[in-house]
Amino acid sequence: MADEGVPLTCPYCDQELILPKQTGQYYTCEYCDKRIDLPAQFAFNRGLEAFKEGQAAYQGLKYLKKKRAAYDAAELTVVRILEKAYFSIQQAFATDLVEPQRALGVEMMVNMAQLFTKRDMISGLEASYWSLLMVEHTAQDEYDSLCQKLASPLGILGFLKRMRWRLRKRQLKRALDNLNQNIKRVEANMAFAYPLHARKSHWKPGD
Ligand SMILES: [Zn+2]
Repeated sequence: MADEGVPLTCPYCDQELILPKQTGQYYTCEYCDKRIDLPAQFAFNRGLEAFKEGQAAYQGLKYLKKKRAAYDAAELTVVRILEKAYFSIQQAFATDLVEPQRALGVEMMVNMAQLFTKRDMISGLEASYWSLLMVEHTAQDEYDSLCQKLASPLGILGFLKRMRWRLRKRQLKRALDNLNQNIKRVEANMAFAYPLHARKSHWKPGD
């Protein structure tokens, strides 16, 4: 078994792959032909596992609430696990991830950043960065779904609905422009070791 290779699920087509022991940075999936950035995938998977482990341990904490010393020690263990997760997901963001992974990654970062700011482990600026990305993601999703709705025929009774959707779309467009500027400002003031690809890279507001 030991020299059979390294298992990995292709992030593009979900097929189970067995990678040769020795690979470079990239591996081309034999099912979908897409090029997989291996260090980013391994970092993402490490981060996800640590996050799940941290969440489970965090759930266990509440039974210790009455025993202060035991609680503090257990909480510190949880924080250490989540620190690993936070670092790994950040590593995964060194490259463009597939959308479900990117979105999940941002969600996990928001979660952990909240805990870390309470403990003064990261700056408020860093925590706000992840929250802004989450807000941007939600606004982009809503914008896209409005575009879809507006593209389908509705008949004469749909007139008011359409008006509302158009208004909302304009609001969202303005909000997204502001968010974009805010995120760029925060990025410029952040001390990440390398540029993060944590935003949707090709998203543009449709008509
Ligand atoms: Zn594939």
